[in-house]
Amino acid sequence: MEVRDLHKSFGDNEVLKGIDFHVNQGEVVCVIGPSGSGKSTLLRCVNRLEEPTSGLIRVEGVDITDPETDLDAVRTRIGMVFQQFNLFPHLNVLQNLTLAQRRAKKRGKAEAEETAMKNLAKVGLADRAKAFPAQLSGGQQQRVAIARALSMDPDMMLFDEPTSALDPELVGDVLEVMRQLAEEGMTMMVVTHEMGFAREVGDRVVFMDGGVVVEQGNPVDVLGNPRHERTRSFLSKVL
Ligand code: ATP
Ligand code: MG
Repeated sequence: MEVRDLHKSFGDNEVLKGIDFHVNQGEVVCVIGPSGSGKSTLLRCVNRLEEPTSGLIRVEGVDITDPETDLDAVRTRIGMVFQQFNLFPHLNVLQNLTLAQRRAKKRGKAEAEETAMKNLAKVGLADRAKAFPAQLSGGQQQRVAIARALSMDPDMMLFDEPTSALDPELVGDVLEVMRQLAEEGMTMMVVTHEMGFAREVGDRVVFMDGGVVVEQGNPVDVLGNPRHERTRSFLSKVL
């Protein structure tokens, strides 16, 4: 995935001011930065939940800013996990996992359920297939949301602060699932405040502030020895 000179404005508020970055296949890139710096907007542009004002975004060689591009096809290849789990409350876990597969991937019931169960097992929740979201903890709901995204067989996963809404004791299980995904070679872009995760799992850390990438590099350098004052100041508040 490649982003070149990406700009995004809401009215006269320019939120992304020329972003360049890339995520290679199998790479985990963690995006950090203060509130309002444009992290979510960047992520949302990548799967076109937001329309970029200008610039280029290429996913697996396909320019997704091209009006000719089939956005539904792009979105089925990019899994997205949000801070809020966004499960359907009236559907049980299994139904949450099969719905999009059946609609967007045109899978039959048996195949969709088999894929769902495989991914529930992966996140450690195979025994909760018949539970409703309200019967699960926040951490379990977020793992269901991850399993749901994985059930679409995405080429890449986007995470927007997946653990920020969780009680502290539930964060670890979700990060562990993400770490395992990374080890299996999933391409991932993760907006997070979990600096331990960024350091240990991230191949690269991107620090954003004010709609620009201030610095990026390997996590040990960016987190341990930042070159820019803005990065230092941010890290002194979160580490
Ligand atoms: P946080 O850490 O708080 O999640 P962020 O880095 O994800 O922050 P964004 O959510 O991308 O930041 O927001 C960046 C700026 O864009 C903010 O000033 C926000 O008010 C503005 N913004 C985001 N979405 C919209 C929208 N749909 N309409 C108007 N302004 C928006
Ligand atoms: Mg955000």
